[in-house]
Amino acid sequence: MNNGAPHTGHPNDTPDSASRPVSLEKLLRACMRQGLDARHGSATVQDVARHALAEARALAPDFPVWCTDLDRAVAHLQALLASRAGHRPLARVLNLTGTVVHTNLGRALLPEAAIAAVVKAARHPVALEYNLEAGARGDRDDNVADLLCRLTGAEAATVVNNNAAAVLLALAALGAPGEVVISRGELIEIGGSFRIPDIMAQAGCTLREVGTTNRTHPRDYELAIGETTRLLMKAHPSNYRIEGFTAEVDCRALAAIAHDRALPLLYDLGSGALLELGRHGLAGEPTVRSMLEAGVDVVTFSGDKLVGGPQAGIIAGRRELIERIRKHPLKRALRVDKLTLAALRGVLELYLAPDELMQALPLLRTLTRPQPQIEALAARVLSALPGTLTEHFDATVSAMDSQFGSGALPGRRIPSAGITLTPRNGSQRALEHLLNALRRAPVPVIGRIRDGALQLDCRCLETPEDLLVQLAHVADRLPTNTD
Ligand SMILES: *Cc1c(COP(=O)(O)O)cnc(C)c1O
Repeated sequence: MNNGAPHTGHPNDTPDSASRPVSLEKLLRACMRQGLDARHGSATVQDVARHALAEARALAPDFPVWCTDLDRAVAHLQALLASRAGHRPLARVLNLTGTVVHTNLGRALLPEAAIAAVVKAARHPVALEYNLEAGARGDRDDNVADLLCRLTGAEAATVVNNNAAAVLLALAALGAPGEVVISRGELIEIGGSFRIPDIMAQAGCTLREVGTTNRTHPRDYELAIGETTRLLMKAHPSNYRIEGFTAEVDCRALAAIAHDRALPLLYDLGSGALLELGRHGLAGEPTVRSMLEAGVDVVTFSGDKLVGGPQAGIIAGRRELIERIRKHPLKRALRVDKLTLAALRGVLELYLAPDELMQALPLLRTLTRPQPQIEALAARVLSALPGTLTEHFDATVSAMDSQFGSGALPGRRIPSAGITLTPRNGSQRALEHLLNALRRAPVPVIGRIRDGALQLDCRCLETPEDLLVQLAHVADRLPTNTD
């Protein structure tokens, strides 16, 4: 019997082996009579109907009951279309999670200047690989390399799809086929299945781990370096910290060990700050410049973490090594498109005016927003909360902790504020109804659950109205009795 595609038929119905699936044409006409086209769009209805019927036919001769009867088929399609309604690819959302750079929500937001540059590059031909001065073929890296060098002090730079690609490419070009020496304490895994040992294997390198999880000493590296060693590597531990009885070899000492043996040192920095954030209360992330000055030969970092730009992987360092990386065959497979380069250039240009950067770059503006300002914003939201919401929920303005996210500034709590909504009678169902309704709002609101309450961290909220409009929509749709 059929146990394949979901169907709305009655479980006890046995399909009559003589009955055949309804025709697509008949089904579509019936759907139109029911107004499904008007509600879901005729292209979607056709797609879903065609797909469902094809699946049903594939089960021949045990056709599911729904497809052999026109009324049932329409009901089945109605259910399929309704379940798709919550599927809204790339829907705009309000990020009230307290995580400023949220990988699942698209990381950094672009400044207006970068958005304008993306639109221009999308709409018109651009000199992507064309040197207008020389009237000759150019390299797409040239669109950003000059600024990257100026901002980091590197001799040369190149850009690929993301930092994972940057690490893969740098390892393949500089480490394979041979051994790459790295501390056991730095064999990290980042969310979304980026694991240093796996990337090394994919790059064709042999991993040579040294030291222990918590302590690695200069002599550990020195003893491990041999005939087949091609590269020394360091990786930023990003989303975890080793505390207590620890020791690591800093970049300056490690660079000295590498250069003593004529080996290069690669550092996967992860976030890679382009400027010192200490005076903005965000100390703790080394700048790319300081690592290169300490003797690191090549650094890799993300474009959409602390840089605050588009998804990209930036590789900066010594000219001769960057040239080797750029000439590697994988570079062509991992290169970025014109939209990414336009966005990245737009962001890097803002860094040339550091005094205005804190306001001009959404990431840094959001990250350095003072708590009292966020609290005042939350208070304005609270004072205008719809009554239906406060009937069911205790609403307060409370202190919260934001975090950077994406592995930068690990463990650092950034004082913030927001709205806490606690179900009046501790009802889990009320909370679930609220979460569901928030996800279905015209602009879905994404918060976080703490201790049986919903927290809406207002650090990333631009205006109270942005949230109030959505809450008004939600309040209208909450069930009147949620006990
Ligand atoms: C985030 C991170 C990566 C992965 O970077 P993506 O840009 O997400 O590909 C790699 N290494 C470190 C240390 C990171 O923090």
